[in-house]
Amino acid sequence: TAPTRQHILDELQRGEVKFLRLQFTDILGTTKNVEVPGSQFEKALNGDVTFDGSAVEGFTRVEESDMLLRPDLSTFLIYPQFSREEGERGRVARLICDVTLPDGTPFGGDPRQVLQRQVERARQLGFEMFVGTEPEFFLFERTPGGLGSTVTHDKAGYFDLAPIDKGERIRREIVNKLLQMGFDIEAAHHEVAPGQHEIDFRYAPALETADRIATFKFVVKRVALEYGLLASFLPKPLENVNGSGMHCHLSLFKDGQNAFADPEREYGLSQTALHFIAGLLDHAEGIAAVTNPLVNSYKRLVPGFEAPVNIAWSTSNRSALIRIPAKRGNSTRAEVRMPDPSCNPYLALAAMLAAGLDGIEQKMEPPPAIQRNIFKMTVREKRHHRVKELPADLREAVDELEKDEVIARALGEHVMDHFVAAKRAEWRQYSATVHQWELDRYLDLI
Ligand code: GLN
Ligand code: MG
Ligand code: MG
Ligand code: MG
Repeated sequence: TAPTRQHILDELQRGEVKFLRLQFTDILGTTKNVEVPGSQFEKALNGDVTFDGSAVEGFTRVEESDMLLRPDLSTFLIYPQFSREEGERGRVARLICDVTLPDGTPFGGDPRQVLQRQVERARQLGFEMFVGTEPEFFLFERTPGGLGSTVTHDKAGYFDLAPIDKGERIRREIVNKLLQMGFDIEAAHHEVAPGQHEIDFRYAPALETADRIATFKFVVKRVALEYGLLASFLPKPLENVNGSGMHCHLSLFKDGQNAFADPEREYGLSQTALHFIAGLLDHAEGIAAVTNPLVNSYKRLVPGFEAPVNIAWSTSNRSALIRIPAKRGNSTRAEVRMPDPSCNPYLALAAMLAAGLDGIEQKMEPPPAIQRNIFKMTVREKRHHRVKELPADLREAVDELEKDEVIARALGEHVMDHFVAAKRAEWRQYSATVHQWELDRYLDLI
């Protein structure tokens, strides 16, 4: 339940908060802020702060640029202090906002409302979607001039216990900050690649998890900066080692019960779970551009680095796109292993939810679960098992997205148009670039 306006005003005063940040996210997933000082707190809480939307990527045309920020009062929090000098300038609080047109109607380019629409669609079918997530990221050294680099600051590996290395200290510091901000963190550990870390969120309603992912990235980057490091969520910053994924654990609840669990059936999975999984698999190609939105995303989705390539599901094997973890009861869930942390969390969760709900509405049946390591299957075996592959690059992914009417409808016309245009432009620019690889490979030879 959301606090009242008066309660928030009291908290702001009691906490001696000097600035209130009104946070929202653009179509490409960048977190944006408008910050107001104390004199404007009431106005902000009333949803009367306007901003010029034409300057925000993918938002709007210049002719209709005035937009309103309508705060979601349940997202109120006072930021912990990230540094001492920051503390001296006064404390900062934030509210996550929905973006509306001046007359109060929802703005079609607001990703948060895209997710809210899918959450509402699920509710009409009697479901609430919960999501837990495992974002991974790298910590890199900065050059003496403060620029980023791809030099990892440690050489540790999976679950390593370093003798109080910088990584461990920073990770704890990040977790502490997140806990102070009310996050439910289940675990944090070093990941497989050098300099790579993971922090696991406990499952929560989809919108809350999307809000948390957006905030999380800011906190990780902010804390890393305090230690003179660069935190990066780029999916594949280094060749020949694992990239960074953001596994999403999805479950539906109905009347307070996990709707994926059914002890009477095969694998202990309900018919609803199978339909949902079938929908995710059916739309996997169409979703990819949203869950894996960068040129670089597709360099992670290659065989051999624990990232999925094949569109399949499994109750045992981590080479599949969807894995069903062993826990049952209220923990019954589908782990989608495709998304990476460069995605817009609102759009990614909306796209996955839309796909799963489509599976439920169309009563789709998934192909048989594959329990073997798919990376070891031959092409013929894969064909036999009807295992398709994810799009190989961003261009293919955008083509697939445009073909997928269910996902396109879920994103809505405004988001679709701007997203597709931005991604096509990104691809064109990339294709026109001459890469070092080409010179190394061809220059002498040809
Ligand atoms: N880093 C891997 C990926 O790209 C996942 C590794 C793991 O969590 N087991 O998805
Ligand atoms: Mg994990
Ligand atoms: Mg991991
Ligand atoms: Mg996982």
